[in-house]
Amino acid sequence: MKHIVIIGNSAAGMSAAKAIRINDKDVKITMVSEEQYPAYRRFEIAEILMNKLNPQKLFLNPNEFYETEHIDFLPGRKVDRVIPKKNAIILFDKTKIVYDALIVASGSSANVSKDVKGSGKHGVLGFRNIGNVQDITELIPISHTVCVWGAGIAGINAAYAMSKKNLEIKIISSKARILEGILNEDMAKSLENLLKDKRVEILFNKSIVEIFGNGDVKAIKLDSGKVIGCGILILDKNLTPNTKFLENTEVNISPGIRVDEFLRSSVENIFAAGDVLNRRDPKEEYFDFPNSWDIAVNQGSIAGENALKFLQSKVDQMISCPDDVPPGKLRILDLELEAAPALDVFNDALNSSGCKQEDN
Ligand SMILES: Cc1cc2nc3c(=O)[nH]c(=O)nc-3n(C[C@H](O)[C@H](O)[C@H](O)COP(=O)(O)OP(=O)(O)OC[C@H]3O[C@@H](n4cnc5c(N)ncnc54)[C@H](O)[C@@H]3O)c2cc1C
Repeated sequence: MKHIVIIGNSAAGMSAAKAIRINDKDVKITMVSEEQYPAYRRFEIAEILMNKLNPQKLFLNPNEFYETEHIDFLPGRKVDRVIPKKNAIILFDKTKIVYDALIVASGSSANVSKDVKGSGKHGVLGFRNIGNVQDITELIPISHTVCVWGAGIAGINAAYAMSKKNLEIKIISSKARILEGILNEDMAKSLENLLKDKRVEILFNKSIVEIFGNGDVKAIKLDSGKVIGCGILILDKNLTPNTKFLENTEVNISPGIRVDEFLRSSVENIFAAGDVLNRRDPKEEYFDFPNSWDIAVNQGSIAGENALKFLQSKVDQMISCPDDVPPGKLRILDLELEAAPALDVFNDALNSSGCKQEDN
């Protein structure tokens, strides 16, 4: 029996698995995920932080999904490396899994640039997964101030969620406004005002140059020289595709995985989808996609079908991935909007949303 291995169990990985199963009931599917949880709506993790939701409420599928779909799901297992010449992946626990086709859907992570002194301290966290939310929740009782570095969707959602915890929240952004590239200036202003009403301070055109603390983060220093005490530093910076396990292999990465129109990498039986794809310095022959849940879902399903067609020797029937797909829905605070909404639509949504109406 042919075997397709999927690294990642989120928007792209889950959609790949579903597309494979719809088209083939027999092929063996193994999904490896570093996270302990079944697939969930990542864009709603702020809801857990606000105590509104139990993590289970975010799960995408019924509990028995992996069993009924005959998917060998390996949660809490991290891929250490891929050996394309042997068609094998090696997990950190030394398990070797051999595949006929591999789909990489490992997403991306926020990082502190190496130029920032003192990175790697306890309390410097991403806001990407349920584990991050649990770590933040543990630190909240001993933190008076929380800094959020970066004003993208994850950073803004984290700041808003924590503004409900009686903490001082400061967003540090190197840009002149929040959600640059996602909202226009007027919409960004409306959202900034709402956050200010929630006592979230936004420091624009600033960067962090040093993180202080003896093991645990205690303070940060801005490029202006100002020092801010904080017990948690949330990162929404330098989103980098998770490709470490592909370093020094025949798979072309720069730093995301480079794919052709069929989402196939430079190795013929390795496909990729979602945030792990190349996002920087795209050359003409490669695609450059924004990070988006809906795009990842769409790509996952194309990568799944194409991996299957590859195994069925139907390469000439592989599906092309469109390069002009709209970025998908925007979920900011408790709003859900079509991408690039009109200003009046945005303001109406903001004014009638729970976040505007609730008491401070
Ligand atoms: C707070 C927040 C809000 C967001 N809001 C929006 C929004 O409003 N609209 C929108 O379109 N998008 C939004 N996004 C972005 C969206 O969630 C991502 O674009 C989407 O999740 C990408 O899906 P993916 O499957 O490519 O990767 P991911 O969802 O990142 O999943 C990758 C999975 O692979 C696993 N993995 C990584 N490395 C390994 C390894 N070595 N071994 C095993 N497993 C590994 C990871 O642990 C993870 O589970 C938001 C994201 C966040 C964090």
